[in-house]
Amino acid sequence: MKVRSSVVCASKSTAHAVSERVIPIISQPLGQLPIPQFPNIGSDTSGHALDRLNRPLRDLRISVTDRCNFRCSYCMPKEIFNNEYTYLPQSALLSFEEITRAAQSFIALGVEKIRLTGGEPLLRKNLEVLIAQLAALRTASGHALDITLTTNGSLLARKAQSLKDAGLQRVTVSLDGLDDAVFKSMNDVDFPVSDVLEGIAAAQAAGLGPIKVNMVVKRGTNEQEILPMARYFKGTGIALRFIEYMDVGATNGWRMHEVMPSAEVLQLLQTELALTPLTATQKGETAERWGHLNAQGEHDPSLGEIGFISSVTKAFCSDCNRARLTTEGQLYLCLFASQGYDLKPLVRDNPHPESLTQAIAAIWSQRTDRYSELRRQEMNDPSVPSDSAALKRRKVEMSYIGG
Ligand code: SAM
Ligand code: SF4
Ligand code: SF4
Repeated sequence: MKVRSSVVCASKSTAHAVSERVIPIISQPLGQLPIPQFPNIGSDTSGHALDRLNRPLRDLRISVTDRCNFRCSYCMPKEIFNNEYTYLPQSALLSFEEITRAAQSFIALGVEKIRLTGGEPLLRKNLEVLIAQLAALRTASGHALDITLTTNGSLLARKAQSLKDAGLQRVTVSLDGLDDAVFKSMNDVDFPVSDVLEGIAAAQAAGLGPIKVNMVVKRGTNEQEILPMARYFKGTGIALRFIEYMDVGATNGWRMHEVMPSAEVLQLLQTELALTPLTATQKGETAERWGHLNAQGEHDPSLGEIGFISSVTKAFCSDCNRARLTTEGQLYLCLFASQGYDLKPLVRDNPHPESLTQAIAAIWSQRTDRYSELRRQEMNDPSVPSDSAALKRRKVEMSYIGG
C-alpha cells in the first residue's frame, strides 16, 4: 500500500497557470477498523438492523470496480488518477459469488435495495452475471430486491438490453451538462454528450426505468447548464437530480465557494419553471423532490420530476440507511468515512456464512456516522467547538468506496 506526499497540481480550469491547490496523492484504503466483538443488535419491526442512532439498514451500495474511463475533476482528477496510479489488482476484487454471498448477509439484516456502482460499474466484465445472481435473491419476506446501477452512461447504449435481461430494474445516469465543451471539460476525457444521451435512450427503450439523471453542479464550471438540462428532461419521464458538489475524498481540491447550494439552483429554475415540492415517498430518500405545475397551476406528474441532493447545505444523515461495500470487500458506513471494516476474510472461503452476518450486524449496531450534519454544524458556527474530529480525518475516495 502506498501513501505518498502532497503535490501542487494544475487544474483544468487553469490550464496555463499552476493552480495553488495542494492536492494530496493518496492510496486506498486508509486503514481498517476492528470488527466489534460483542454486538448489541437491535432491529425495527420490519427486521432491519438498527444503528446507534436508530437508523435501519436498508440500502447497500456495492462498488464493483475502482476503475473508470472518465476523469471527472470532482471525483478522479487526471493529475492523481494517471498512469502511475495503482488500482486494485484483480486478485483483490471480490468475485461475483463472493459479492452475492455478502449480499445475502446484508439482506438477512434488512437490506432491500442494492445499487451497483464504482468507479464505472459497466467496466466490470460480465456484470450481467452478477446482476442475475443478485436478482435471484429474496428478502426474508420473499420479495425480490430493488436492483439499480449508477453509471456514467458511456457503455450504456451497448449494454442496456443485456442488463435488463439479467434482472436490472433501473439505472441512474450521470450527466453534467448538454453542452459538449462543458461536459468534456468535466469528464476530462473528451467524451461527447451525444453518446450519453444515446445510452439514456437505450436504457429507456430497454425498460430500465424510472431513469434518473444526476448532474453535479460546480459553480464556475457548469451552472449555465442547469436550465438547459431542466428543459431537456421535462416531460421525458426521466427525473433530473441536481447534486451539490461534495467534499468527498482528498483529491478533488474541494472548496466551499465552488458549491452551488440547492436553494440557489431552485431559485434559478423557478425563473422559468413552475415547480411544486413533493412529499417524500420513502424515509431515507437522498433527494428532495419537486414536480412541475401545468398551465392551471396543478401538479402534473407527466411533466416529470426534479430532485435536489444537498449533502452540503442540508444534511440528511438522520435518515441515512446506506452501507457501502467496496470492490475488495471493505464495509464503509458513510460516504465520508476514512476507514472501513475488512469483510473479505469472512466472505472468502468461509464455511460459516452466519459469522459474516454477525459481523455486519455488530458493525452496523455500532454506527454513529453523520459527517454531513457535523460539517453543517461547523459551517454554521465555526467559532463553536464541535465534536467534529470526523471532519479533520482524511476521507476515502468516492471512486473506491462507490458513490
Ligand atoms: N461512474 C459512475 C457515475 O459517474 O455515475 C458511478 C460512480 S460515481 C462515483 C457516482 C455518483 O457520484 C455520480 O453521479 C457522480 O456524479 C457523483 N459524484 C462523484 N464525485 C462527486 C462529488 N465530488 N460531489 C458530488 N457528486 C459526486
Ligand atoms: Fe468516473 Fe463516475 Fe467518478 Fe466520473 S463520477 S470519474 S464517471 S466514477
Ligand atoms: Fe449518510 Fe454519511 Fe452522507 Fe450522512 S454524510 S447522509 S451518514 S453517507
